[in-house]
Amino acid sequence: MFFNFFLFSLIGFNALSNVAVTFFHDNLKLIGIDNLAFFHIESFGRWSQLLILFLVRDFVQYLIHRLLHRVPMLWQFHKVHHSVKEMGFAAHLRYHWMETIVYRTLEYLPLALIGFGIEDFLLVHLFTIAIGHFNHSNISVPLGIFKYIFNNPQMHIWHHSKSIPAQYGVNFGITLSVWDYLFKSDYIPYNGRDIELGFEEDELFPKDFISQEIYPLKF
Ligand SMILES: [Zn+2]
Ligand SMILES: [Zn+2]
Repeated sequence: MFFNFFLFSLIGFNALSNVAVTFFHDNLKLIGIDNLAFFHIESFGRWSQLLILFLVRDFVQYLIHRLLHRVPMLWQFHKVHHSVKEMGFAAHLRYHWMETIVYRTLEYLPLALIGFGIEDFLLVHLFTIAIGHFNHSNISVPLGIFKYIFNNPQMHIWHHSKSIPAQYGVNFGITLSVWDYLFKSDYIPYNGRDIELGFEEDELFPKDFISQEIYPLKF
């Protein structure tokens, strides 16, 4: 939590992203693109803006999460998150810092095209962090019909299952589960509270913080 949320996200990445965003816009100006926005999002009401931002971002995140499982090099980084052997809200905090770089970079591009700024981004980000903790918590909260819209602990635990039916994984949704149902990547065969979590040969995966940070860089 200290490293990913405090040191890296708040201090490091905010400074970095402001520099990157300015650089990105300056370069587009150089090739003659002055205003990236395809339509004027500011003509929408505040809540509609945030809702659109949330929906687009969550869909892009679903695709990025699939990439993390699909691309061998990215999977090495994502293994840190999948090395949790037990669910609990803190499992959401265990991931390699490179994931922040991959997610924020790939998310920002389509959102800048729609015309969103970095401030709106932070608001939605804080909301999704809270939902992320919920999805990783070791509790059962049946959502009824809403399970087809929102991700939940009963669904996400199968994403962490050591044995999965599909080669590259299932249940990739971040905050919403609807993308998994739409693209047929959903999988909840039964209540999975006692299934084994992890991945093939996770017993060989390093156990301490420093070694886990270094592990993917060796590939
Ligand atoms: Zn994953
Ligand atoms: Zn997870």
